This record gives sequence, C-alpha cells and structure tokens, in this order.
Amino acid sequence: MNIVEFRNVEKHFGVHTVLDRVNLQIRPGEVVVLIGPSGSGKSTLLRCINVLERIDGGELLVGGLSVRAGAAAAREIRQEAGMVFQQFNLFPQMTALENVALGPRHVRGASRAEARAQARELLAKVGLAERAGHYPGQLSGGQQQRVAIARALALRPRLMLFDEPTSALDPQLRQEVLRVMQALAEDGMTMLVVTHEMQFARRVGTRLLFMENGRIAVDGSPADLLDTPSDQRLRDFLKDGE
Ligand code: ADP
Ligand code: MG
Repeated sequence: MNIVEFRNVEKHFGVHTVLDRVNLQIRPGEVVVLIGPSGSGKSTLLRCINVLERIDGGELLVGGLSVRAGAAAAREIRQEAGMVFQQFNLFPQMTALENVALGPRHVRGASRAEARAQARELLAKVGLAERAGHYPGQLSGGQQQRVAIARALALRPRLMLFDEPTSALDPQLRQEVLRVMQALAEDGMTMLVVTHEMQFARRVGTRLLFMENGRIAVDGSPADLLDTPSDQRLRDFLKDGE
C-alpha cells in the first residue's frame, strides 16, 4: 500500500491555485526529494499531507486514511507523519529531553518515565545524549534541529516530512543534520524532503520530484534528473541554483 497518495489534489488560496491537480504516490521506504522554485507549492504539499492545510479538491490518503475523514483521522495522520520545519520550533523553556518527551506524554498518554526513557534513546540516536539537559538557547542551530528530529520521531511516525530542514543553518552545521537524516533513511524510514541540498538528493534520495506552478513537472531518479535533465525548466532551475 502507498503511504501517501495524492489523487488530483487541488489547493487554492483565493483565486491563486497552489496545488494544481497533483498526483503522487509514495511507497514505504522511499526517500523522495522535492525541489522547485520558491512559491511553487512545496510547503503547501507537505502541509496538506500533515493536515495543516485542508485540500479543496481531489483526494489525499495518508496511511490509507483520507485527510478529509474528520478530526480523529487528522489526529491519527499527524501521528503517522512527523514533520520537521526550517525553524526548529522547540519550546525554549523546556530542556531537549522535555521537548522530545512532551509529544508521547500528551498524544500517546505515555507515562513520564516511559516518555523520558524513549526521549533519551532518541537523543542518543541523533548524537545528543550529552545535551539532554540543555535548553534550546544553549544549543547550536544544528543541535536544535536534531532535537526537533528526535521530537518528531518520538511519536513513532511511519513517514517523515522535512521542509527545508537545513536552510536556516550555517553551512558547517548543515552536515550534522543531513547525516542524521541519512541514517534515518538507511534505517528504512519513508521520507519526503524539501531541500536545496543536491548532494543529499543524489546520495540519499531514491526519487526526485521537480515542482513548478503547483504541479509535479518532473519525477524520476535523482541521478538521471541531475545529470541529464531533459526538462528545460528543471535545467534552468538547476543552473540558477534557484
Ligand atoms: P514553496 O514552499 O514552494 O515556496 P508554498 O507552498 O509556501 O511554496 O507557497 C505556494 C504559494 O502559495 C505561494 O504563492 C504562497 O504565497 C501561497 N501561499 C502559501 N500559504 C498561503 C496562505 N496561508 N495564504 C495565502 N497564500 C499562501
Ligand atoms: Mg516552502
């Protein structure tokens, strides 16, 4: 079964069409990298999967559940699809450990001890075992983003959505975040990643999508699309580096 299935999905903001009859299927284990010019609809596409935006037409299934099936389905979908944003959005008054433990306590009703034990495990997984007691303000941007990844993983998602996770970071801090994402992919996590990191797309992506004007204009293997882009708009995009 597909983890994500867009069928002719439309999204409009006023008269502006942001998703223009999008069709897309993502199977378990795929690492799909989504690129495209600013304003082409990449964030909106991710936000529709996570039911942060409602769709205006077509059908969108996540883990077999329709995003239009009501509040209970939306909650379940949000748990299945972890999301990591450009801005880390950690709670500044909570430690790294508390940030990661919060979701399981509230969403899954985990005990405090269970949530904290799992949070420690996840912080170790993202290389931050020693920083569990630090507050976000005491961490670098790369460390904060790794905490945000651990926090998303704490809900045990089947799918991870990343919206430009390294764009707010200095170049030297990007690699530590990309390495964590690569390890996650190698563990078999299904991922949909909006990024400008073409090295990551090539090394880790199993599939590359190029979005333009609310449509997925090109869909193929990263190596094919990056080495021999047949689409003129994709060629222009890659040449300009946006
Ligand atoms: P991308 O992530 O590819 O840069 P977005 O999905 O953020 O693109 O935005 C696509 C288009 O939708 C843009 O023209 C943007 O201005 C518009 N848009 C996004 N969110 C909203 C909103 N909440 N209200 C109105 N327009 C929006
Ligand atoms: Mg965006």
